[in-house]
Amino acid sequence: SGKFFVGGNWKCNGTKDSISKLITDLNSSTLESDVDVVVAPPFVYIDQVKNSLSDRIEIAAQNSWTGKGGAFTGEISVEQLKDIGCKWVVLGHSERRHIIGENDQFIGKKAAYALSEGLGVIACIGELLEEREAGKTSDVCFQQLKAYAGKFTRAHKHTHTYFLSPFPDAVPSWDKIVVAYEPVWAIGTGKVATPEQAQEVHVAIRDWLSKNVSAEVASKTRIIYGGSVNGSNCAELAKQEDIDGFLVGGASLKGPEFATIINSVT
Ligand code: 13P
Repeated sequence: SGKFFVGGNWKCNGTKDSISKLITDLNSSTLESDVDVVVAPPFVYIDQVKNSLSDRIEIAAQNSWTGKGGAFTGEISVEQLKDIGCKWVVLGHSERRHIIGENDQFIGKKAAYALSEGLGVIACIGELLEEREAGKTSDVCFQQLKAYAGKFTRAHKHTHTYFLSPFPDAVPSWDKIVVAYEPVWAIGTGKVATPEQAQEVHVAIRDWLSKNVSAEVASKTRIIYGGSVNGSNCAELAKQEDIDGFLVGGASLKGPEFATIINSVT
């Protein structure tokens, strides 16, 4: 459903030199036209990428602040991202949830603000291995989806002042949300989900969207898979009916392999 979407999440990798080489490789690759392609460089290299990467590929940030800029040391605002040419932001990545400690409310607030300012959101969700083994995969994914959908349980209270403003009851529009299902146990581990495992969760996510947002949103929203996607396993995954693209980490740092993944569109 929707146009195939492939994102390259470079995470906290790269130097001016290595990124320059990656850009050269991407610019010289032949990419299928029927695919939306986005890369997410570290903030400090976004300008370099914007200035030298082909316009064929859009740019995402790897994070954004919950509201307008100001006295928020170390943060980057949505307005600043738009100013340097970003069209997207990756939010709710498992590394931010589980290493840095971001929670659903915080992520939902960032998503609502980014969307309200017209930025596209790559909304990441996914379960830990112990959650999968306990049979809680769907519960965890649905809980995380709720935050993007603005359906917060208001019992949750947070002490920081930036949570005091009311949460929106619904995100402004789902047109600019791509849901990225990334099982945490598959990220950076080389342990890719099987096509059947991924498909099963993607169907559950679409079903949740249908019941909790609308049938139209469920059918139109791209649900992409992330977690150890590479040039060898992408084709089998891409064949699955409900896999609408990929969010790629490690393999997106290699231009030719990333091109292979982009071109796995069926
Ligand atoms: P890997 O492709 O390196 O497993 O990372 C996936 C990911 O986290 C993309 O956001």
